[in-house]
Amino acid sequence: MKEKYDVIVIGSGMAGMTAAIYLKRGGLNPLVIEEGAPGGQLNKINVIENYPGFAKTDGPTLSAEVFKQVEALDVEYLYDKVVKLDLTKEEKMVKTINHKLYCKYLVIATGRLSKKLFNDDDKYAGKGISYCALCDGNLYKGQDVAVVGGGNSAMEEALYLSEICKTVTIIYRGDTFRADAALVDDVKKTKNIKIVYNANVTEYNIENGKLTSVLLDTGSTVEVSGLFISIGSSPSAEIFDVEKDKGFIIVDDECMTNVENVYACGDVIKKNVYQLTTAAGEGTTVAYSIIKKSKK
Ligand SMILES: Cc1cc2nc3c(=O)[nH]c(=O)nc-3n(C[C@H](O)[C@H](O)[C@H](O)COP(=O)(O)OP(=O)(O)OC[C@H]3O[C@@H](n4cnc5c(N)ncnc54)[C@H](O)[C@@H]3O)c2cc1C
Repeated sequence: MKEKYDVIVIGSGMAGMTAAIYLKRGGLNPLVIEEGAPGGQLNKINVIENYPGFAKTDGPTLSAEVFKQVEALDVEYLYDKVVKLDLTKEEKMVKTINHKLYCKYLVIATGRLSKKLFNDDDKYAGKGISYCALCDGNLYKGQDVAVVGGGNSAMEEALYLSEICKTVTIIYRGDTFRADAALVDDVKKTKNIKIVYNANVTEYNIENGKLTSVLLDTGSTVEVSGLFISIGSSPSAEIFDVEKDKGFIIVDDECMTNVENVYACGDVIKKNVYQLTTAAGEGTTVAYSIIKKSKK
């Protein structure tokens, strides 16, 4: 493989793959570096019902469709983990475990990871454990669910679910929510939301592949068919020396960071909505900005 590229895209989730498609079609030759499988978080999504063009699909299927487009364009891939960068010079240095590469334009599309309740939570995906009410809430229409957490996102998840589900129980380890007062007020005013303070989930009860209840360290059991874990998420942005807010990369309207020619898109950036459609949109913006600049 070459050592120098016009553009290097780090991450091959929806944001990185979309950027690669547009960059290649725009006449550039990006290298995409991915440490896992193409698709990123898509590979963990059981049901997708809000991606235009696909009334109902699953993450791996959608990922495979997008990756097919990337492959058809002959985009170069390197399956490796980026471990270090030097963004201080005009030519950006990107070090992976096995290679040292250089590029003029860098695209950070490394996404983010939800904090897990237990280390092996991944094996319960599709069995009643979820990290996204907006994505999966509809699967529990008219049912009893619980939300774990006490911050703004937990309150928002609970309020959203309260419109769809029969009851929502918020399970929080403390006695005072960390969320904004207005959100807490809304939660407390909502009739079908119950709150259990000073409790931690210790076990999931799964019967026939489906969640039936969760055990708490208080000794009680909460009967639910869905458990939404909302205890925060971390952007995969530690290695990038660019401006951030709470770990999320700050970008301008062109999706450029505070470092010239270093762009970012998808879940790794600071924004309001973390969805596939927005990740694809920002991947497009990044590519368009780079294509425009490279032709000057
Ligand atoms: C369970 C779940 C359900 C969801 N359901 C929906 C839904 O129904 N609808 C919807 O619109 N959204 C949904 N989302 C949100 C959606 O998946 C994300 O918004 C979107 O996938 C983000 O894409 P991304 O490309 O920004 O990041 P990611 O998908 O996180 O991709 C980042 C990629 O970067 C790679 N990477 C990270 N660091 C490095 C490194 N150092 N070197 C090399 N590679 C690296 C990772 O391996 C990963 O492949 C869901 C999310 C989850 C977790």
